[in-house]
Amino acid sequence: MPDIPACRYTAGVVLIILILAVAGCKGFNNSSDAKWAKNSLDGPDVKVRILRKKTFTRTNFEWPKGGIEIRDHQGHIIPWPPEVRRVYLHRRGDRVALAFKPGKTAAKKAALYTSVGFHSTDNQTSIAKIHVPEHRFRRQYEGREFEIAVVKGRLALINVLPLEVYLLRVLPAEMAPNHFTLEALKAQAVVARTWALKNLRRHQRYGYNFCDGPHCQVYQGRKTISLRCERAVKETKGKVLVYQGRLAEAFYHSTCGGHTAFIEDVWGSRPQPYLARVEDHWKSGYRPYCARSPYARWKAWRSLRRLEQALRRKNNLGRKERIEQVEVDFLDRSGHVKSVLITTNRRQRRIPGPEFRSLLNRIVGRRRILSNFYEIKIQGNKIAVLGRGLGHAVGMCQWGARGMAQHGFTYQEILDHYFTGTKINNYYDMVGKSEGKTVPVEKNH
Ligand SMILES: [Zn+2]
Ligand SMILES: [Zn+2]
Repeated sequence: MPDIPACRYTAGVVLIILILAVAGCKGFNNSSDAKWAKNSLDGPDVKVRILRKKTFTRTNFEWPKGGIEIRDHQGHIIPWPPEVRRVYLHRRGDRVALAFKPGKTAAKKAALYTSVGFHSTDNQTSIAKIHVPEHRFRRQYEGREFEIAVVKGRLALINVLPLEVYLLRVLPAEMAPNHFTLEALKAQAVVARTWALKNLRRHQRYGYNFCDGPHCQVYQGRKTISLRCERAVKETKGKVLVYQGRLAEAFYHSTCGGHTAFIEDVWGSRPQPYLARVEDHWKSGYRPYCARSPYARWKAWRSLRRLEQALRRKNNLGRKERIEQVEVDFLDRSGHVKSVLITTNRRQRRIPGPEFRSLLNRIVGRRRILSNFYEIKIQGNKIAVLGRGLGHAVGMCQWGARGMAQHGFTYQEILDHYFTGTKINNYYDMVGKSEGKTVPVEKNH
């Protein structure tokens, strides 16, 4: 069976057919992974796995009055008592047990299913309450469907909702709305939408599109509600970044520290003209747009003795060797540390940038070295690391977008600054125009 699903766009319908060959994934009904909502202005439906990183064996699911059906994995309706608004689900082997009452007796009598799906009957988005007692997790999610199945011995919860609704909740989780003005949030909305559409296949092997963590985009349902973010998503509805007629790789990060980076310098991936180094200020010598970020400048230090110990553990330093100097040896075109030169009382040694950073992380703490954009100073018997920025520095600098918005730039100008040569198109128009044809946007995955 092929691993790669067909991706066809016909008559305005996006149909991603997932072929699940992976053991343990059979629980989900994967026949249409990104179909359009009936109200196509909401975009295609996306499947998001909630609590992917947590293991749990029980969950309670609650929905508002009416408007919902419970179905098994074949789509057959599971009858339930009309007064019931909450069900109790738990894992039994590789099946889901569905009870309409709490307690052990009800659980024992519960019927078993490959998967249990909660479907909105009128195709509208409804709000469900999900409770996972093992993690004291209670949260409300919008969705047109919710599916619960057993994947690799764990209960898995999938929230199916229109892309535009998903973005309403992703935006405040990815970019604290209190710190950012509308134009910066609109730029983020376009970037988040583009990223999502470009990465619909990220978890395809397991029958969903995105997880809810930073591996994809952080999504916490209705825990993060911001009217300003909702406005940003609605006012940019369908807008995506396009390069040469295809969806762009819309990367973003918190703070670049002065300039962004070439994608190939950071991940060794194929160069992209629009993911190149961009000076993040309007004129040389002026403060970067992201200067107001709490991560614009940072400092971490430790004793040289700790560094010596760490190097010895890696066999990079002899027992009687003493460090005399540590300096940045080489910067790449993106201004990031490529290698570090260590001078001891006996010799000189070069250490590649990533290796030195992981060494530093070990001695000063993982969250203290925030980027690869730093200088090193020896002060007495201490090594000080003076850095700038937070994150990989590829694509849009979020705090820079904020600075630009405060200088009066529009979201289009912000995106043009960080993604040189890209255009902003309406994705839904692009798909519409390609009726009956394969849309090129996903072909180069
Ligand atoms: Zn993910
Ligand atoms: Zn910046």
